[in-house]
Amino acid sequence: MNRTDAGRARLTARGVVRRYGGIEAVAGVDLAAPPGRITALIGPNGAGKSTLFDCLAGTVRPDAGRVLLGGRDVTRLPAHARVRLGLARTFQQIAVFPTLPVADNVRIGAEQRRGRRPDTRAVDEATARALALFGLGRVAARPAGDQPTGVLRLVELARALAGDPRVLLLDEPSAGLDAAQTARLVSVLRGLAGRGMALLLVEHDPDLVGELADTVYAMAGGRVVTCGPARTVLADARVARLWGGAAAPTGAGP
Ligand code: ATP
Repeated sequence: MNRTDAGRARLTARGVVRRYGGIEAVAGVDLAAPPGRITALIGPNGAGKSTLFDCLAGTVRPDAGRVLLGGRDVTRLPAHARVRLGLARTFQQIAVFPTLPVADNVRIGAEQRRGRRPDTRAVDEATARALALFGLGRVAARPAGDQPTGVLRLVELARALAGDPRVLLLDEPSAGLDAAQTARLVSVLRGLAGRGMALLLVEHDPDLVGELADTVYAMAGGRVVTCGPARTVLADARVARLWGGAAAPTGAGP
């Protein structure tokens, strides 16, 4: 991470450490997610990606280091306070209310819009916009629990976006999506970055990382092994070794 990136980043980790017993799940990580950019976090199972995500989102408190959101130190703020400041996330394990209709699940995100408490009309409009963005209008009235995994991933994304965040954290957003849903995801995420949002995603699919990410951080053993432009990092032999030789996306040349 260079100084310029850190200076203008919407979300920054500085020397973040999180221990579980004797294990340093995150062992001093610096990371920056700038506005208008898609940043990806990759690495093998157990590398510390989810723990770092939890530290950034506020569901886990770091043992050392700082988290900055738009230049403000939020290290000690709980997750819901960070949501109000414009940070949204989706989860690796899908977390919807199964008995509630799809639209009501998305509405929960709209009710947590950043800034002032929104009025009903603003919530209705934000919910409708987020449903439309992912083509969810036709299942809006159905219970979320009846929907397949791919649709639920999109419901989670719609819920996160309905809150009009400035920073979006996505934990394995393509897991369970079919080809058409993945194409929609790519186009929506690119559009969000194009409008200035800072996106940070954990993703296991190298093709998707190569297609989407501007910058990639590769983690192993709780540390950032390397970071830089996606093509450079994905072509790095160390990354290929860590990622079981599957890092180079199809068609990525030196
Ligand atoms: P995956 O790709 O499998 O999700 P990851 O890169 O997200 O892996 P983490 O889930 O952050 O990695 O785990 C990093 C290390 O911290 C692992 O050794 C894991 O066992 C440990 N760990 C994570 N959460 C906890 C916890 N709540 N209690 C104890 N150990 C934990």
